Amino acid sequence: MTDEHIDIASPLTGEPEWQAMRESLESGWITQGPKVAEFERLVSQRHHVAHAIAVTSCTTGLHLALVALGIGPGDEVIVPAFTWVATANAAVYCGATPVFVDVEPDSYNIDPEGVRAAVTPRTRAVIAVHLFGLCADMDAIADAVPDHVAIVEDAACAIGADYRGRPAGGLGRAAAFSFHPRKIVTTGEGGMVTTADAELAARLACLRNHGASVSEEDRHSSPQPWMLPDFEVLGFNYRMTDLQASVGIVQMAKLDDMLAERRRRADWYSKRLVGIGWLRTPAVPEHATHSWQSYVTVVGSDAPAPRNEIMERLNQQGIQTRPGTHAVPDLGWYRANFRTSLADYPVAGSLRDASMAIPLHNRMTDRDYERVADALEAI
Ligand SMILES: *Cc1c(COP(=O)(O)O)cnc(C)c1O
Repeated sequence: MTDEHIDIASPLTGEPEWQAMRESLESGWITQGPKVAEFERLVSQRHHVAHAIAVTSCTTGLHLALVALGIGPGDEVIVPAFTWVATANAAVYCGATPVFVDVEPDSYNIDPEGVRAAVTPRTRAVIAVHLFGLCADMDAIADAVPDHVAIVEDAACAIGADYRGRPAGGLGRAAAFSFHPRKIVTTGEGGMVTTADAELAARLACLRNHGASVSEEDRHSSPQPWMLPDFEVLGFNYRMTDLQASVGIVQMAKLDDMLAERRRRADWYSKRLVGIGWLRTPAVPEHATHSWQSYVTVVGSDAPAPRNEIMERLNQQGIQTRPGTHAVPDLGWYRANFRTSLADYPVAGSLRDASMAIPLHNRMTDRDYERVADALEAI
């Protein structure tokens, strides 16, 4: 029975998304076109950042941002040790060296003092991840690096998140959002790069479209049939389709309601679960408005069973949980190619082994939340 199973995440899509996508399909303009432009406008307005460039994913968005910033072989890019693998991969795609820094045990985000200690003359960028929708301490990170080091936000989980009253997406040189179904707003796959810098935005738009110096739209509206774009840089095809953007436009209209419900549910969990001594609920520092892409707890060493056994028991009751995320320096490819060792990142290692995301999304009922809380209490 479907109401017996509680998924860790579930996108809130329905008839309006289907209708919007169908209209796009029938309009004849299927790849990047007017719907992408409208979706970009909505994200840039919502996040108070001048430019938004839609791409195929947050991963390709991070890659594009680093390329547009001129990062390449010999450069170092500082990344957190506890994050999705794509954060570090983006640096490797450019031929740069990822330099891992451990995270803070409470916020799960990169430790600014660790960033300060990791800076070398080769450091060109820091990717500040807003993990699970909580903004990294951007002021402290900016204070920890020289001015010429670019701070790029991995805002994959941070649609609707604020830092000291300012929205994610305009807090560094550039940011990348994700519209994967595990995030709050989805387009199936998809991403968005944002920046306040007009020159960088123009470079991003060019690089996304094979490096073409004339946009596809200009070419279509141009009166000269002989016109071909020039290619002066090595670009990529990272274009989002209008089919995806039409879904994203409908999703953006729901964003504030989805965020408000997530906040209410997260507050409820944190109050309801406070009596379970072995379970640490996520901290929310004063400077941040959490978007609650995920609600990630930590299972203490005093728990009545090991974390994995707790997850298995919940699973048997139809309650899906997941570890928070990876300790990237311990992934096989990084160990083999960069000789990284988990021993250097003890917080990332312990969070990988002890963190537990519990279900929180916009399709759960009051009863679902009660069931999760009851099941945790019964352990
Ligand atoms: C989901 C996620 C990504 C990747 O996003 P995609 O759109 O799937 O490429 C990158 N970084 C973090 C922190 C994420 O959570």
